[in-house]
Amino acid sequence: MPHLAVNALRASYGPIEVLKGVSFSMEKGEIIGLVGPSGSGKSTVLRTLVGLTQATAGSVTIHEKSIDYSSGASVRDARDQMAIVFQQYNLFQNMSVLKNVTVAPEKIKKRPKQEVRAQAEKLLAMVGLADKLSAYPDQLSGGQQQRVAIARALALKPEILLLDEVTSALDPELVNEVLDTIRRLASEGITMILVSHEMSFIREVADKVIFMDEGEVIEEGPPKQMFDAPNTERARNFFGKIL
Ligand code: ADP
Ligand code: MG
Repeated sequence: MPHLAVNALRASYGPIEVLKGVSFSMEKGEIIGLVGPSGSGKSTVLRTLVGLTQATAGSVTIHEKSIDYSSGASVRDARDQMAIVFQQYNLFQNMSVLKNVTVAPEKIKKRPKQEVRAQAEKLLAMVGLADKLSAYPDQLSGGQQQRVAIARALALKPEILLLDEVTSALDPELVNEVLDTIRRLASEGITMILVSHEMSFIREVADKVIFMDEGEVIEEGPPKQMFDAPNTERARNFFGKIL
């Protein structure tokens, strides 16, 4: 059984259906690169998975637990197993770096303080910020803040980490340090769905590339095949344009 199986997921904004039955699956430790034109529904897939957007139909099996996504209540079960990081990192400005990472596990998950702190220190070291525990967000660069946001998401111990264009708002010279952090997570075996315009990076780290257009999965496959020899006209068009 796959670690995550998304089955015929549908979602609408008002009368407009933007996910028209999205299906895909992934194994534990796998990295999926989710790509497609702007407006194709990539963010909506991630938002729907974590319950920020309500699905109208479909089901998701995560970590051997099946969840009916068309009923809002049960989405909480899934949300607990995934964490999302956005383009805008939205750190708590009035809290130190360490506090940003520990506050949700402590206050919402009610985990023991000592354990949460030890985990946060480990995560902040992993994203290269061991020396910034007591700094405040406004003392950090955008790249450093985004790395705190990634550590904060991982502190929730998600089965799957969802990253939605996490380098898109950064100055070009800060992009690489965040990509390096994602490489590090990949080497640690963290299961991730990566939405990004950094195509050479996707090609490098993804185990599987999923190409979406107009609310549907058009084609999926190993990066080499998707980039060099996609089967569908629409994927050829897309990859042809961006290369
Ligand atoms: P992507 O992340 O691939 O650029 P999105 O998932 O953000 O695509 O958007 C998919 C479609 O849904 C687009 O047509 C977009 O305009 C529309 N959309 C996204 N968010 C909203 C919203 N909050 N209200 C109405 N329409 C939205
Ligand atoms: Mg998007």
